[in-house]
Amino acid sequence: MSDCLFCKIVAGEIPSDRVYEDDKMIVFKDINPQADVHLLAIPRAHIESLNEVSEEHDEIMAHMIRQLPRLAKEQGLDDGFRTIINTGKGGGQIIFHLHMHLLGGNKLPGFH
Ligand code: 5GP
Ligand code: ZN
Repeated sequence: MSDCLFCKIVAGEIPSDRVYEDDKMIVFKDINPQADVHLLAIPRAHIESLNEVSEEHDEIMAHMIRQLPRLAKEQGLDDGFRTIINTGKGGGQIIFHLHMHLLGGNKLPGFH
């Protein structure tokens, strides 16, 4: 989608601080981190939200989820991490290109 911010990040038209990429997905630091570690994992292909996910996306969804524990450990999150997917306006979604938030560290709300 030409007017999608995250598609522009995938295309490199808007800079991002990438920590991982492969043929299916990219992972970059959130511009406004809500915790010590705050990454966004997104598919290269434009999918608006979880509402648009169907069987054809099973492979990419599983692939993305499987990368998260490794990425968290790479960021030093040995104790665990939080994954959030906001869906739709009512779910707090602002960017309508599916993304998984990966959060962790001392500033994580609810951290004890
Ligand atoms: P949502 O509320 O849609 O789940 O989350 C969108 C996230 O994208 C927010 O946490 C916001 O800080 C992040 N974000 C918005 N614009 C940019 C940008 O241009 N670059 C990066 N790296 N993150 C962004
Ligand atoms: Zn997009």
